[in-house]
Amino acid sequence: MEDRAFSYLQPSENPYQPSPSNSYSSQMKSGIVIRELLAKSPRCSICTGVVPRQAISIDHNERRQDGGAASVDNAQLTHPYCNTGFKEARISKTRKTRATTGTLF
Ligand SMILES: [Zn+2]
Repeated sequence: MEDRAFSYLQPSENPYQPSPSNSYSSQMKSGIVIRELLAKSPRCSICTGVVPRQAISIDHNERRQDGGAASVDNAQLTHPYCNTGFKEARISKTRKTRATTGTLF
């Protein structure tokens, strides 16, 4: 794939470049807001992606079926998707790998 294919996603200007007029451009204001909000946004404990406030899921770090308690210490913020299919697929894949490794070695 050519690098030019996604050239439209590259900003034409650096949003943090100081303005010669000593006033903040709209692009710089947006860059500052995004930088501040991203640094303070909650992250998914499973995939580490930013979790929007409208879509927070509370997950058992140690799964209920594995004896995980509904305690504050066992809770983690996740995406709803990561708390369901993605997490289960990752756990079952790990278990299959361990099972396979266990029978081979
Ligand atoms: Zn996630």
